[in-house]
Amino acid sequence: MPTYVGIMGWPVAHSRSPAMHNAAFEALGMDWEYLFLPVAPAHVDDAVRGLRALGFAGANVTVPHKQAVMSALDRVTVEARAIGAVNTIVNRDGVLEGHNTDAIGFLRALREGGFEPRDCRAVVLGAGGAARAIVYALLAARATVTVANRTLSRARRLADELGALFRAHVSTIPLNAVQALEAALARADLLVNATSVGMAPHADACPLPEEVAIPPSLTLYETVYTPRETALVARARRAGATTIDGLGMLLHQGAVAFELWTGTPPPLDVMRRALEAQ
Ligand code: NAP
Repeated sequence: MPTYVGIMGWPVAHSRSPAMHNAAFEALGMDWEYLFLPVAPAHVDDAVRGLRALGFAGANVTVPHKQAVMSALDRVTVEARAIGAVNTIVNRDGVLEGHNTDAIGFLRALREGGFEPRDCRAVVLGAGGAARAIVYALLAARATVTVANRTLSRARRLADELGALFRAHVSTIPLNAVQALEAALARADLLVNATSVGMAPHADACPLPEEVAIPPSLTLYETVYTPRETALVARARRAGATTIDGLGMLLHQGAVAFELWTGTPPPLDVMRRALEAQ
């Protein structure tokens, strides 16, 4: 019998993780299988407990369950608890552990793209689950962070909670405050889009107001990976800025999960090719 892992979400059919992980298992000759696990919101607790009952080695968790799974787990890492989201479950001999590999995945993708976050000044668009993991990672790298979000109260909660954890001041601005955004970008080294704006089928949408100029000295990290070149990436390129697309974060969060489950170093090139082929 193969060892099973999978991805829980609702819906989940669009996920690229099964192709990425199954390519890795095949390349290493491992008898493992990564399954699509569509789980309706009402069944999250049962599904998590089912991982133990069915002897799964673990699972990934995606929208909308990253918070909801936490109460059904035996342990949650300090990092995942601070971020407020679990994207990877590991079954250690019947004890279910919750991890967040988005934060480390983001840092690895950023460094792979040639940007060193230590002590940088960053503006993060968004205050949802991805933004929380990214702000956590940036504060851990001693960056100075400004969060811009459509719902300002959500940005303020993120800033208060993660700022207190790292004893850092995190500034917040509304996403439509053109002058404040422009001033923050003029001082920044890094801009991150952690909103879902620009994702297919709304690929023409751009989270940054049209009037805001993008300085050419800026590096843009785009978390949206469908399409590969979002409207924001195209605009930043035209402005002469450096851009890094979202596939790297997807790859590296998956690679960290792979190693947690299997204890084996992930075949990064194979996994990257599987993602790019989709
Ligand atoms: P989420 O928790 O639902 O948060 C969504 C964020 O987008 C919120 O800040 C929300 O603002 C903002 N937003 C949504 N629609 C908007 C609109 N029309 N105008 C302005 N802001 C809008 O989602 P998430 O889990 O953080 O995911 C966010 C994005 O990150 C998704 O595109 C996801 O694919 C991507 N992601 C990528 C990776 C990767 O590996 N590359 C990993 C994780 C996530 P409000 O607070 O105002 O609603």
